[in-house]
Amino acid sequence: MLQDSRNRARFPALFIGHGSPTNALADNAHTRAWRALGVKLGKPRAILAISAHWYTRGTFVTGQLAPKTLHDFAGFPEALQRIQYPAPGAPQLAHAVASCLALQGASVRTDWGLDHGTWSVLLHLYPKADIPVVQLSIDQTRPGADHLRMGAALSVLRDQGVLILGSGGIVHNLGHVDWRDAQVAPAWATQFDAWVRTNALAGEHDPLANLAAFDQAGRLSVPTPDHYLPLLYVLGTRRADEATTVVHEGFELGSISLTALQVG
Ligand code: ZN
Repeated sequence: MLQDSRNRARFPALFIGHGSPTNALADNAHTRAWRALGVKLGKPRAILAISAHWYTRGTFVTGQLAPKTLHDFAGFPEALQRIQYPAPGAPQLAHAVASCLALQGASVRTDWGLDHGTWSVLLHLYPKADIPVVQLSIDQTRPGADHLRMGAALSVLRDQGVLILGSGGIVHNLGHVDWRDAQVAPAWATQFDAWVRTNALAGEHDPLANLAAFDQAGRLSVPTPDHYLPLLYVLGTRRADEATTVVHEGFELGSISLTALQVG
């Protein structure tokens, strides 16, 4: 057990809108906020990352002692391809995650690593890469309510000093990207982002998990569920006595939200 987590009965859970992969190398308002957040939270014993970019049929957990840094994108600068985030794995935690999610048939695999949804954020939150990291995949065949329930089942890990980190984006519509790097988002994007925040802060999770009932703003903001679903895991970890707070806000490229929420 690391010193910083000894005094903390239950580690908070975090959802971060990761934006463009280029944030991994950037020094901007978003990355500075992530760095400050890492300092404020202190070091967890280990990190369970749920990234939008491991979107599978079935639920899987990375089980390696030394997970590879995956460069799962194309068309970005060479410097991004060279990034390494050499955090150790945590096979014991991977098996604990799989047993929390035994009902969902989760299993440990060794053919994935840390994708950019995980490391582009962790490079700033915990730049030393000295905290063990395990990744959990998102089962694309399940409805929203299942992802909330899986978050609840994983919540017990927070009591053991594990940071549950969802990395995606409340609004993530690449079809509506504004390449002028517009930090002003269209009305449907800010409207949906605000609706999600309001419900999350009120602990009203059911409407957030009912993707089929989203209005026009929601459908434009969540054209595919991959970037949105990590949020449901994080909210699912919330206990009755805990608050959810907004720890960062912002948009990039018009239609990509970098809103970040903390549970606990
Ligand atoms: Zn992404």
